[in-house]
Amino acid sequence: MSDCLFCKINEGSIPAEKLYDDNEVFAIKDINPQAPVHFLIIPKKHFSTILEVKEADHEMIGSIYSVANQLAKKSGLDQTGFRVVLNCGAEAGQSVFHIHYHLLGGRVLKWPPG
Ligand code: AMP
Ligand code: ZN
Repeated sequence: MSDCLFCKINEGSIPAEKLYDDNEVFAIKDINPQAPVHFLIIPKKHFSTILEVKEADHEMIGSIYSVANQLAKKSGLDQTGFRVVLNCGAEAGQSVFHIHYHLLGGRVLKWPPG
C-alpha cells in the first residue's frame, strides 16, 4: 500500500533495522518503546486491522507466534515473561493501520492494560 508506514519500512523506503525477516513476516524495534524490550512483529501483507484477516491468512498469522517465541528467547524473556498484543481500532489505541503484534517485556507488565 503506497501510503502505509509499515509497507514502506518493509519495502525499504523508510529505514529500520529488521530483527527478523522472512517471506511473509518481519520484526523491528518500536521507535517509542513502552518496556525495555518492545518489538513489533509485522506481516508483509497489508491488513488495516485484524477484521480483514481471512481463513487463508491463518497459517501466516500463526507463524507470527513462532517469530514471537524466537525473539522472546533471544531476549531472555522466556525466563521472565512477556506479552504479545495487537490493538484493533480507535478505542484500543491502534495508531498504525497495518496490523502488527507488540512483543513487550523486561519489566513487570500491569493487568489490565489501561
Ligand atoms: P499501535 O498504536 O498499536 O498502532 O502501534 C503502533 C506502534 O508503532 C507504536 O508503538 C509506535 O511507537 C510504533 N511506531 C511508529 N512509527 C514507527 C517507526 N517508524 N518505527 C518503529 N515503530 C514505529
Ligand atoms: Zn501496509
